[in-house]
Order: sequence, then structure tokens, then C-alpha cells
Amino acid sequence: MERFYENRSKNVRKAAEFLDWTRNGDKILVLDGGFASSVETDVDFSSDARWSSALLEEDEDAVKRLHVKFAQNGAQVIETNTYQLDFRPEKAALFAKAVKLATEAIAVNPEEVVIVGAVGPFGATLADGSEYDGRYLTKTPYESLFEFHKRRMDRLSDAGITFFAAETLPGLIEAEIILDVLETLPGCRCWLSFQCRDDYRVANGQKIDDVFARLSRHRALRKVAAVGVNCVKPETVASLLRLLNSVNETRLPYVVYPNSGEDWNASTKQWIPTNDVGDEAILSRVSEWISLGARILGGCCRVGPSTIQKLRLKIAEEMLEAVGKVAEAKEQDFTTMQLSWRRPTTKDANLRPSQLGRVFGLAGVDSKQEAEKHLSAILDHFNVEYAKRECDNEDFS
Ligand SMILES: [Zn+2]
Repeated sequence: MERFYENRSKNVRKAAEFLDWTRNGDKILVLDGGFASSVETDVDFSSDARWSSALLEEDEDAVKRLHVKFAQNGAQVIETNTYQLDFRPEKAALFAKAVKLATEAIAVNPEEVVIVGAVGPFGATLADGSEYDGRYLTKTPYESLFEFHKRRMDRLSDAGITFFAAETLPGLIEAEIILDVLETLPGCRCWLSFQCRDDYRVANGQKIDDVFARLSRHRALRKVAAVGVNCVKPETVASLLRLLNSVNETRLPYVVYPNSGEDWNASTKQWIPTNDVGDEAILSRVSEWISLGARILGGCCRVGPSTIQKLRLKIAEEMLEAVGKVAEAKEQDFTTMQLSWRRPTTKDANLRPSQLGRVFGLAGVDSKQEAEKHLSAILDHFNVEYAKRECDNEDFS
């Protein structure tokens, strides 16, 4: 038990760091990809109401293998396989099992990787695709939704989770309820990620800027590390982030994890190809998303470990270019340059490129030439739409 509290306090610290990383905006983190669509197993869970959380009971090795694979392919944030996990008391132990599997999996690189508890919407457990239109939100009483999330988040918290990835949320009310539950869990934080039906509305039809403007007034927003979108088409992300930027007065960072761009048919439960799919649909837009404020990037359905690896490399390239700009700036009037995600200080100007690499979470920038090799307009467009807010020391407890 002592060990548990030791681990939990370590996780609380990690969650707090996580919040600082993203809120300070000086790190870009890579999240894993879609679990159910990437897992390799002989168990057919496609029409199982438990969906991929069935694997916690049917094939736990497959769960762990996939966590390991994502971590080995560059994911710095791993979600537990609890998105659609049953909240009935007899299934309570599965939350701890899910956390244990993720914890064992990241043992390959525990300092580099953070575990967050996946919290899917109530609609996902209805197993009828209703999280993609949120139709249940108007019919389900507040108390039922609160109870649902409270039980699941309590169980994750009991298992040591201190950071929740609340995702595929179809509308405002469910995000508010997540925050209401968060208020009951001291030391815990979250991100809030919405599923969106097009490039300006969340799944239930509310405008995303209206949703975020309302959320900004919630007391628990201080415990939110990021807001964003997931399981959306890559082509819709930039427009959604711009709308968020129009109301994001505190410059809260964004979490972005789109699907592969295919169309989901909720009634046949199949993905239908479109013209804008594949790795490039995501990779070609990464720089724009970062410029709009995205600080945690990953993938949702049909985005697997190989894409996550490419995403990690792509982000490293973007960082390298920014480092190159700093190197260039040292030859010029450094004080007039603004680094993308934070204002460089005089101290930075004296850093060697290798040290700058570390400052921005990028290893292997050893020479000035290497840094200078990648000079482009990246920094300029970073600055167009996203400026770091001054980070004050708020009370995160
Ligand atoms: Zn998805």
C-alpha cells in the first residue's frame, strides 16, 4: 500500500508537470494513436458492447503489446485502454488492470512517458455511435451523467491516475460534467477533447467557440491542461483551432488527435475511404496546427504506431527548424526575434544549439550547421496566430 501511495504521489507530480509543460507552451508532446483500430488480437470485439476494453478480460497481452509499441514509436503520452470501460461495480477491478498494463508497458522508458486515463463519453457505452451526434445529451439527466463519470474517474484515480484524457465529447454539458467531477478529485487534471461533426461544430451541433467560451467560465478550468479535438478529419482541424483561438483568452494549449480522415458509418460500423487520408493528411498539417497552438498531438481511429513515429519525427523537424532560426537570429538582431512557443531570453542567445535542442525537447542538435540547415519561415508563421501567454502561478490544487 505504501508503494501505491509512493507511485500515486509520483503520478500527481507528473500530472502537475504535464500541466506546466503544456501551459508554459515550451514543449510539444506526442500522444499515442487509436487503440481499437491498431490492436493486434484474435479476439473480435467489433460488435462487443465493451469494444476494445473487452481485451482487458479476453487478451491482456495484446493491450500491453500495443502500449509498448506506441511508446517505442515515440509516443510520450499513453492512454489507458479504458475509453469504453464498464462502470458497474463488478467490473471495477478492470480499471486497475488497465492502469497496471499501461504502467508495465512504459517501464521501457518511464521518465519520458506519461500515462493518462482515457475517459470516453457516456454515449460510447451505448455502443450505437451516439457519441458522434450527442443525441443522448438532451435525454440523459445530469445526475446520471455525473454518476457515470464520477464512478469511472474515481476508479482510475484509485488506480493511481491523476490525469484524465476526456475525449470524443459530443457537447458542452458532458465537458462541464467532467469538470464538475474533476473538482471532487484533488490533485487531478485533465484535457477536454471534442468530437466534431464538421469544421465549426462539435458533434451535437453546438459551435465549438461557443462551447469553449462557456467552459472558460468553469471554476475547474484551472485544472485543464489543454482543450481540443479528436476523432475528427484532419482537414477540419485548422478551422476548429482558429475558432477556439477567437475565444481563447488565456491561451490554453490545444490537444489534437484526428482520425485517419476516413468516414465513419455509425450504422454499419465501418470506415469508408475518402480522398484525404493516410499519413500525409496529418503530417502535412502538423506545422499549421502547432502554429495555431496545438501542443499535444497524436492520432485517433485508424492512426497506428507507424504514423505516430512519423509524427514524432515531423515535430522534431519543426522544432529543429525553430532552433535553426534561433541560430540564425544569433547572427542578427536576436532581440527582435520571437521564438515560436516562448519569447527567447538573453540566456537562450548564449546557448549552444545542442543546449537549445534540450530546451525545446529535441535531442541530437549538435552543431550550428545542423541547426542552420533547417531555416525556413516556420518561426514567422508560428507567431502569426499564437503567442504565448504569460504563465502565472495559479492554484492547481
Ligand atoms: Zn477515434
